[in-house]
Amino acid sequence: MTKGVTMLKGRHLIEPGNLSVQELDRYFELAENIVKEPLRYSEVCRGKILATLFFEPSTRTRLSFEAAMQRLGGSTLGFADPGASSAAKGESLSDTIRTVSCYADVIAMRNPKEGAALLASQVSEVPVINAGDGGHHHPTQTLTDLLTIRSIKGKTEGLTIGLCGDLKFGRTVHSLAKAMARYPRNRFILISPPELEIPDYIINRVFKPAGVQYSQVRRMEDAIGDLDILYMTRVQKERFFNEQDYVRLKDSYILDAEKMRLAKKDLCVLHPLPRVNEISPEVDSDPRAAYFAQVKYGMYARMALIAALLGVDGNAKPSGLDANGTTQTAAPANACTSAKVDTPANAGTSAKAGAPVKADASAKDGAPANAGTSAKADTPANAGTSAKAGAPVKADTSVKAGAPANAGTSAKASSSAPAAAVESQKGGKK
Ligand code: ASP
Repeated sequence: MTKGVTMLKGRHLIEPGNLSVQELDRYFELAENIVKEPLRYSEVCRGKILATLFFEPSTRTRLSFEAAMQRLGGSTLGFADPGASSAAKGESLSDTIRTVSCYADVIAMRNPKEGAALLASQVSEVPVINAGDGGHHHPTQTLTDLLTIRSIKGKTEGLTIGLCGDLKFGRTVHSLAKAMARYPRNRFILISPPELEIPDYIINRVFKPAGVQYSQVRRMEDAIGDLDILYMTRVQKERFFNEQDYVRLKDSYILDAEKMRLAKKDLCVLHPLPRVNEISPEVDSDPRAAYFAQVKYGMYARMALIAALLGVDGNAKPSGLDANGTTQTAAPANACTSAKVDTPANAGTSAKAGAPVKADASAKDGAPANAGTSAKADTPANAGTSAKAGAPVKADTSVKAGAPANAGTSAKASSSAPAAAVESQKGGKK
């Protein structure tokens, strides 16, 4: 394993700025090796456990984490329904994380509250991976997106990137914008209705300081011909307070064959999925539609991340195949034992290895400086809708691990989750 990837051992991934561009380069070397030779890595996490704690619905992210760990030879535990965990009894997020970090070697968590993943990283004994915190960030989707872009475009710089749809609440947009702004000569065209514009902090704390060119347009047709990448997103129903707003905005953009005719021949269309109505199925057969390839890259991206955070060395391991290409029956020696965070003996000390995000490092990227302040700063502003931005998580409070209220049902019910679930240790409002 390369030096840069070894350096990721024991770290948390809360938002894209946690990894430097150099670290990302090393990480992508590993990810691309895994794409080429997945079987070589099929035993590197033998004996290791990934916990997937999903306090919000998910299909791809959770399953791809689980597939990734299983394809590395490790195993998984966790929950997809917080109603079936002690969250339903009122356990705080901190206590849940402290508990799970006694069982698992790495934790992937999705939570409806902005800042929840950062809070989890501050109490966890093992690396925490943010699998989505409210409308804030989704860094493993970004690793997926970048791996897809690198693979299809052969580069991550000098690209014109159209971000289209719900740029306000779409956490994948925020993370991708932040990540791509670090590469030279990338240009953004932000395509959204006025109510769903990208949060000001992305403009003021990410684009402007980096001198990134951007423009805002309302009509997809006005931008599509200029784009190298078109990143479509769904309107994030579960973050809306008022269902009428959602209904009014949900079909703002629909990519169809007619609009694709205006695009470059080598446009790459991405979507973090799930798709609702924003890409017509007729586009799926267009060779420029890359969103299902993106799904597969997502699994490889997560394999590389888990291996890197656990510090396992794929290159030092038997490949899982013998010289004839036959799968070995005996499990190879366990390279994972070198990962400090994994050994029970390290319980209580491994938090040091899994260093929490540093305030000064992340602040540079306009990221949360700590759970109490910057999560708030990064929270999407309410730009003219009654949609409810997720409440920040305060450093001194524990996020109730309680379920997002009915995400996916009525917009009003589901949107009550982020704010309502932040409680002080002594019991705040429910
Ligand atoms: N799956 C992505 C996310 O969890 C995108 C979406 O849900 O729209 O943010």
